[in-house]
Amino acid sequence: MIIVMKPDATPQDLERVSDAIKAKGLGVNISRGKERTVVGAIGDERILTEIPLGAFQGVESVHKILQPFKLVSREFRKQDTVITFPNGVVLGGPEIQVMAGPCAVESEDQLLYVAERVKKAGAKILRGGAFKPRTSPYTFQGLGEEGLLHLAKAREKTGLLIITELMDPRDLPAMMKYTDIIQIGARNMQNFRLLSDVGEVSKPVLLKRGLSATIKEFLMAAEYIASRGNQEIILCERGIRTFETMTRNTLDLNAVPVLKSLTHLPVLVDPSHGTGRWDLVIPMARAGVAAGCDALMIEVHNNPEQAFSDGEESLIPDKFDNLMSEVRKVASAVGRFVA
Ligand code: PEP
Ligand code: MN
Repeated sequence: MIIVMKPDATPQDLERVSDAIKAKGLGVNISRGKERTVVGAIGDERILTEIPLGAFQGVESVHKILQPFKLVSREFRKQDTVITFPNGVVLGGPEIQVMAGPCAVESEDQLLYVAERVKKAGAKILRGGAFKPRTSPYTFQGLGEEGLLHLAKAREKTGLLIITELMDPRDLPAMMKYTDIIQIGARNMQNFRLLSDVGEVSKPVLLKRGLSATIKEFLMAAEYIASRGNQEIILCERGIRTFETMTRNTLDLNAVPVLKSLTHLPVLVDPSHGTGRWDLVIPMARAGVAAGCDALMIEVHNNPEQAFSDGEESLIPDKFDNLMSEVRKVASAVGRFVA
């Protein structure tokens, strides 16, 4: 059972609710978000039906939820979550948003060139890693804060929104300054401390599915963020580990309709990491849109052969132009559109 307190609920209101739950021998979990406090009652929910919690002062709503993920579940909220950015870009509505850019920010010139090209093709969000989660400690680790400055410059010049990955809570203040969407990478999907920290801020979060995470684990990770108050979460299917070796990962497109039925959160497909091969990115982007995704993330590089990371899955800008015209056709066939 989830009890959502009103924004103006007093500490006494909260205490009365938790005392009533505890008096029935159940556990209480209190999540204090920026806007609202949410009380989770842990234990046999049938006992709780004996208390008229909805009538308590300061209580906004009471939800009986069967799934282990509560706030992010469709049971909790029927209508789709729609994220509207300050510049008017909407994610989660009929328009499919495309986030595109290099795997890593390598230099100001590189980023600005790619930014101009993806913008011209119709993307409204620029991606680029400043802090890179690399398998080897001896490979390029990202430009760090310098990369964030290049992203900020690209936003200023193009008007594109920015998304970049956060790996360490210590970088959160810098992220808050420079980025419009915080990306939590696949390797950190179950970094619960990091999830709780981004749950405390008011900035949309893109949560990538872990390399070997089940859909339930993925949604429980999203629940960590939501339970701290931040409900603006975009779920990213980016491929999972399987026995197949022809591709870097296996893009689990089943996850798209499964997620859409279980959660109200928008779903994004990343066919770049999902396949690891640039020649598969366009067909799998088309497939993602056909499966019902709300957004795409595409790696684009001016010179993939010289890229510091993920060159093999990056599209050159001309190929990205093709991708956009291809996904436009599929989007209109399924009642959506791409700018
Ligand atoms: C990325 O987006 O560049 C990235 C590292 O993705 P993932 O966390 O999905 O591997
Ligand atoms: Mn990458």
